Amino acid sequence: MTVVETLIDLQEVDGRIRELEHELKDLPRRKALEVARLSAVNAELSTAKSNQAFASQRVKSFEADAEALREKIQQLKLSQSSAQTNKEYQQYSLQIDLISHDLETTENNQLSAMDDLPAHESRIADAQKKFDDIKGGVDEVCAELDERIKEAEAMLAEAKKEREEKSAAVADPRARVYYERLKTKRWPVIVPLTQSGVCDGCHLVQPPSVSQLVDLNVKNGEAGQPQRIVACTMCGRMLYR
Ligand SMILES: [Zn+2]
Repeated sequence: MTVVETLIDLQEVDGRIRELEHELKDLPRRKALEVARLSAVNAELSTAKSNQAFASQRVKSFEADAEALREKIQQLKLSQSSAQTNKEYQQYSLQIDLISHDLETTENNQLSAMDDLPAHESRIADAQKKFDDIKGGVDEVCAELDERIKEAEAMLAEAKKEREEKSAAVADPRARVYYERLKTKRWPVIVPLTQSGVCDGCHLVQPPSVSQLVDLNVKNGEAGQPQRIVACTMCGRMLYR
């Protein structure tokens, strides 16, 4: 294999490594989005539940108030029955009337608080349904993403092993170093020089001398002679035909 061929081989593995690394950055981000989507719906459900708990606590509290008022009326009636004077009797009646009025208000409040409950229940049911619907989908997508992460990690480890072999196969150390250095700035690193003498990386027309050197490399390759690095005059990418 010529130096150019081994470099193209190395670049092919590096292309796969780049894609896998990009994917491995993207997959956890996609998973986080799914989890966030579910937790938003979960928050809706929690709010609906706590609103319902508050409403039902309100009903209970009116109920307890009403019960206390009823007991008080009962006690006043008992005391009234043993009243000694007419005046005392009337004072009890007045108190009983006042508390009965309070009781009526409290009972009305309790009824109206009870009227609110079905709406809260139905909001919980809606939120629960939405949560259940989304949870199934989110769990499925997350499981698929986890599966793909594992797969991509295995493929990446494999590609990195392969890269070591491909890198060792580049017989010219100068070409290898040039490739590795340029890889941190340019991608792809080694590109074809078109028939009309244009760098396929940056699309700049090359001077005829560059085309001649690239063609010489082809001849040298065919003859088993060493090939030299021919770089684009603009972007520095290695050129080949
Ligand atoms: Zn170029």
